[in-house]
Amino acid sequence: MSDSIDLLSIRPLLDTIGPYNEIPDEYNSKDALNALITSKILVIGAGGLGCEILKNLALTGFKDIHVIDMDTIDISNLNRQFLFGSKDVGKSKAEVAAKFVTQRLNDPNLHITPYFGKIQDKDIEYYKQFSVVVCGLDSVEARRWINATLVSISETSDIIPLIDGGTEGLRGQSRVILPTISSCYECSLDLISPRTTYPVCTIANTPRLPEHCIEWASVIRWPQVFPGQKFDADNPEDVEWMYTSALSRANAFGIDGVTKSLTLGVVKNIIPAIASTNAVIAASCCNEAFKLITNSNPILNNYMTYSGDDSIFTFTFELSKRKTCPVCGIVGISIMAQNWWSLQQFIDEITENKEVQIKQPSLTTGSTYLYLRNPPHLESITKPNLSKKLNTLIKPGDEILVTDPNLPMSLKLIVSFEGPENEPLQ
Ligand SMILES: [Zn+2]
Repeated sequence: MSDSIDLLSIRPLLDTIGPYNEIPDEYNSKDALNALITSKILVIGAGGLGCEILKNLALTGFKDIHVIDMDTIDISNLNRQFLFGSKDVGKSKAEVAAKFVTQRLNDPNLHITPYFGKIQDKDIEYYKQFSVVVCGLDSVEARRWINATLVSISETSDIIPLIDGGTEGLRGQSRVILPTISSCYECSLDLISPRTTYPVCTIANTPRLPEHCIEWASVIRWPQVFPGQKFDADNPEDVEWMYTSALSRANAFGIDGVTKSLTLGVVKNIIPAIASTNAVIAASCCNEAFKLITNSNPILNNYMTYSGDDSIFTFTFELSKRKTCPVCGIVGISIMAQNWWSLQQFIDEITENKEVQIKQPSLTTGSTYLYLRNPPHLESITKPNLSKKLNTLIKPGDEILVTDPNLPMSLKLIVSFEGPENEPLQ
């Protein structure tokens, strides 16, 4: 099952191997129990997945659990985030969840330490204390950050496995990342599609899809009718206005398919969270945490998908490392630029690139600043470069380093050029 993981390389991590593992003679139940009760485990996220994960880990026998979440409890969370009640609305998710599980288990040896804040508030030393990190997050940015942080720790000291769960409606996935050994979160970034956006001219003039009509109502019509007022997706009147407005637009263009739920989906860009899917994925994540800590069984290698929307289907496969991964890879990403591109056009292009997906890039070469967003005085010095042609700023084959203030890593792009010197007429 896990024969493609190099067992020798992870042996320091799994000091003993369990009764159902590949080398059963070396399993010792006392060691397993000791590991379970002494390991420090970090849970990131105390929302839909996080509530399940905390409850499972505590009931499984972990005694030293830490939990981080920056959010407060909203009334709309209460249908699935079962550690919270209406009296908790407005309070910290991490603090309320930790208190609830601690009180419910009533075990003097169980310690759940909450932190109400961002994962970025904590430094490397803080993360080094954990044996495993389990993520139940809904943010790609936060996952990229913790992944890059754990890979950088694992390069110089002990490997800290990252178990990542995610759900979307009736679908979900769990994965085990052994930083520096197996593929990391960033390696498979291209599996995540950036949010679908539609060209404004299509929305304004030539709608073809129901989504175009909803975007028109949201982006163009709403600000005209309600200048300065923010659309509130939890307010039924706002939603009704958005729906009828999109529907009349669709009728005018003979487009079918505008419904209230599609309207909500497009304007909020959300898929409803389902408690039972969270339970399935959280269970898988916690079983992997248990196996990693006790070494009782082979671990997931390395990505499990669960799909409950079209009958039921699960599938496990091994994601491989990407050589051009900016976090754990060794080579840069090759980018073909058009000769006529300005630096700004190049930046627009890489922001959209599926392997890059950086929102606020600053660009440098080994020797010069191409464009820096911060500090302000360097921004003003480098800003004129944005309108210059890229091929006047760098040579073919040059490396560009791209950084983003939200990510603890830098991407290496290797740029070559093609095409005419002037923008071709369409
Ligand atoms: Zn990677």
